[in-house]
Amino acid sequence: MATDLVRSVVLMDTVISMRAVRAPSDEAFDERTEHALDWFREVERVCSRFDPRSEVMQLTARVGEDVEVGPLLFETIAFAMDVARESDGAFDPTVGYAMESLGFNRHYTTGHRIVTPIEQRERPTYRDVMLDVGRHTVRLSKPLVLDLGAVAKGLAIDLAARELRPLGDFSIDAGGDVYVAGRNERGDPWRIGVRHPRREGEMLAVLRVADVAVCTSGDYERRSTGGDGGHHILDPRTDRSASDVTSATVVAQNAMLADALSTAAFVLGPERGLALLERFDVDGMLVTRNETCFSTPSLARYLP
Ligand code: AMP
Ligand code: MG
Repeated sequence: MATDLVRSVVLMDTVISMRAVRAPSDEAFDERTEHALDWFREVERVCSRFDPRSEVMQLTARVGEDVEVGPLLFETIAFAMDVARESDGAFDPTVGYAMESLGFNRHYTTGHRIVTPIEQRERPTYRDVMLDVGRHTVRLSKPLVLDLGAVAKGLAIDLAARELRPLGDFSIDAGGDVYVAGRNERGDPWRIGVRHPRREGEMLAVLRVADVAVCTSGDYERRSTGGDGGHHILDPRTDRSASDVTSATVVAQNAMLADALSTAAFVLGPERGLALLERFDVDGMLVTRNETCFSTPSLARYLP
């Protein structure tokens, strides 16, 4: 029986930690987690806005063309477009250039500043991204930078979880975005703490969960280094940091959904945000600036 079944690595500008309750051997654990980490590397290689060679940035360089893209990028963009439509544009992956202009423009390992050579005269929206499902092509009708930062980590967690599935009971934590399978070391549902957005070290709630993802978008997570020092979630109507909410947490069957919807709910605010979560049949909670907490009624099933 293996002993220390934990592995942590820095990828996607965050610490990825994988833990298994048991494994046939240390070697089996190492092998499964290596495959899992490969997915984080692959998603980053395809989806990174900070690498001019990534598939998504290659697409950015070809405005007005039908560009055939690989299945990973196509499905990710297609999913992001669904959430954009459903959230009435509060979620909008065309915020990349605005993010870059606001100072979210440094590669986390090299520190290199990215400067995307486009001229973005009019502010683009998700409606400027056209997909052809049959041919797997994407066309950008205006110069724009696609930012998949609100979904990529979730996608990578889901792909990694597939690799760890044979281990049975496990958790994957990517900087606070989490997927848990089965039971914890004590045979109980996993406990996931949702941190208080303003009080360091304090928890808003501890959720008891199994076989779900829990993702949080918080205004405390990343600040721009240049620009106005705002946080990393933009209201696409203004291209400034969304300001009503301080944190949004979503519990969903998969991490890509939880990741995207937490970002979308953050921008929409409590009323419309919770309505969106209910439409997608997921649970979640939002905290506003004045520290009022709102949650979907059925979130209670995860609270002891
Ligand atoms: P998250 O931490 O999952 O909420 O994702 C935040 C990331 O999503 C940011 O770092 C940006 O890359 C991207 N992003 C920011 N604002 C939006 C938005 N309104 N819609 C979609 N993606 C966004
Ligand atoms: Mg997100």
